[in-house]
Amino acid sequence: MLTSLLLSSTILVSQAPNADSDFRQLKSQLESYGFQVNIAIPPDSNLPNQQIGLRRRVRKPYGLFNSQNKSIWINPIVFELGNSNATLIHETVHATQYCVGNGNLKTIGLDIEPIPQALPFFKRYVDTHSQAIEQEAYTVQTQPNSYELVRSLLEKHCQ
Ligand SMILES: [Zn+2]
Repeated sequence: MLTSLLLSSTILVSQAPNADSDFRQLKSQLESYGFQVNIAIPPDSNLPNQQIGLRRRVRKPYGLFNSQNKSIWINPIVFELGNSNATLIHETVHATQYCVGNGNLKTIGLDIEPIPQALPFFKRYVDTHSQAIEQEAYTVQTQPNSYELVRSLLEKHCQ
């Protein structure tokens, strides 16, 4: 994975590129700020209202952030699909937004643009607040330096 290669060349010089190691470190960082990270199929009841109809028809989401109890759900299927880091990075953006909003998701105010391929993922949110929140998550998730970026954002806003 590109992110782990970049990371190994900058921070973890002595360590071979390892997506699992990146995942564990980000998970630990989240836990150190009081977020609970569950590796389990996300429960239906925690889905935002506008997504319920959609989700029932398709599949369980890869990840979920619940601001009520500061918990993140990572669907175990992402480890098979090879997108576990991208999923955790996405949910970490929501955790950062939680810190920015002091308990309510609020946009961080990033000055980076989403890649065109990310547009359909957040444009489907009808509510403009949800769209802005998801836009940041998908924008960070698809940056070449997404892993380092999200770790620094989390550290900056949640400490
Ligand atoms: Zn999201």
